[in-house]
Amino acid sequence: DDAGVPGRVRVAVRLRPRNAEELVADADFADCVELQPEVKRLKLRKNNWDSDTYEFDEVLTEFASQKRVYEVVAKPVVESVLDGYNGTVMAYGQTGTGKTYTLGQLGEEDTADRGIMVRAMEDILADISLDNDSISVSYLQLYMETIQDLLDPTNDNISIVEDHKTGDVSLPGATIVEIRDQQSFLELLQLGEAHRFAANTRLNTESSRSHAILMVQVKRSVKGREQGLSGENGNSSNMVKSLKPPIIRKGKLVVVDLAGSERIDKSGSEGHTLEEAKSINLSLSALGKCINALAENSSHVPVRDSKLTRLLRDSFGGSARTSLVITIGPSPRHRGETASTIMFGQRAM
Ligand code: ADP
Ligand code: MG
Repeated sequence: DDAGVPGRVRVAVRLRPRNAEELVADADFADCVELQPEVKRLKLRKNNWDSDTYEFDEVLTEFASQKRVYEVVAKPVVESVLDGYNGTVMAYGQTGTGKTYTLGQLGEEDTADRGIMVRAMEDILADISLDNDSISVSYLQLYMETIQDLLDPTNDNISIVEDHKTGDVSLPGATIVEIRDQQSFLELLQLGEAHRFAANTRLNTESSRSHAILMVQVKRSVKGREQGLSGENGNSSNMVKSLKPPIIRKGKLVVVDLAGSERIDKSGSEGHTLEEAKSINLSLSALGKCINALAENSSHVPVRDSKLTRLLRDSFGGSARTSLVITIGPSPRHRGETASTIMFGQRAM
């Protein structure tokens, strides 16, 4: 198992169960896919007697629990962030296939429903000591190449600053909230969601047309005492040891709920449809190119082509871990979109 290997993108596919409408309307039709989780294969039906077979790092059926999805998709990434590396978890797929359910579900009624963001924070809070360490969070929306602060709606055009020496990305201007407990994190996610809804209403668009990006920075200090254990001077006093500056270990987790991957009907005259479609195509195809470059072990990852990939620059390659979950629905009516989602996932591996 190469869950902990940096560089390569790990790709899982998750099928959502049929919804009430599909159970009735498509009752006479078979699902467009058949999953074989034991052998990590997915069969995409071509017709009644033929199908194409694809392999993934993980195949999650409609019966996979949120807990299991977290464990296979996100946990290795969260663990590397706690060790001081950068990590990304992304969900890609057609609108309505479960990206937000997988990443952002709060599980207020039933904690078993909690998605990746909430479970990741739970693991981070359990692992660190708030006396010496800190967790800070930003929550953003990227819409039509503009970054909006979901924690402060007046902050609607945030710029990306790249440190060309270290390769680090920062967003000066973005609200940063220190998290000390799970409750304050849940409230932050709710606030962000409310602001997202308000912003999208104002812009006359849908949340499926933008990317939602959660950034969690974990700073840990490896204290003088710990440093002293491997100290070079065996008889140095405790006093001297504690005067050593603590080593700060920083890791960043980025969780990206991508815009819906479906082809938008450009003939529609509604609002910004055409411009939105172009912008989503631009960012998703730029993302595709970057993760293909990682998959091919290419030394050149073309991050400059979109804001999305510039934002993720310090999460690509090097020691960073990236996990992609592609979400699909079972309906035979969306076979075409499902096929293109599967191909996006295949190219990332
Ligand atoms: P997306 O974010 O991709 O547009 P959503 O996460 O909003 O899709 O999911 C669409 C609907 O399907 C929601 O009502 C969601 O609760 C439901 N859903 C998605 N995935 C699952 C799943 N694995 N199990 C149960 N319900 C799901
Ligand atoms: Mg969604």
